[in-house]
Amino acid sequence: MTTTPCDGCGRPVSVAGGIANLWSFEKSTTEGLSLELVDGTDHFLCFECVDDLPNEATEADVDALPDRPPDEPIGRPEWAEGSDDGMEWAFAGTGLGAAAGAGIGLATGSLEYWFVTGAAGGLLLALLAERLSGDTGS
Ligand SMILES: [Zn+2]
Repeated sequence: MTTTPCDGCGRPVSVAGGIANLWSFEKSTTEGLSLELVDGTDHFLCFECVDDLPNEATEADVDALPDRPPDEPIGRPEWAEGSDDGMEWAFAGTGLGAAAGAGIGLATGSLEYWFVTGAAGGLLLALLAERLSGDTGS
């Protein structure tokens, strides 16, 4: 786990490390993201600052963001939570699909074909299920 200072408020922001975190099913601990603004500048911002930026933000908008105490916890807007859920659904679906596909593959003797087909089918079903659950949840 590493932290990067937020360009907006100056708080240290946890960033999840690399591929190891991508494949874990833990709730992502990343609290911010890199953003390219309309004026072409890159900034690393916590979710709260991203949420505070206007549409079509520029570097001046980032500079204008208020500083926050470094020990104030970083809140996660709903859109950040939602994207995490989507990733979990996708990974779970792909894993289940691959497992089911491998089972069919073993039974039919064409393991590779069914493994890939199962994973792809699982991913599609997961995205579909995530979309449906998102519709009823909001
Ligand atoms: Zn910030």
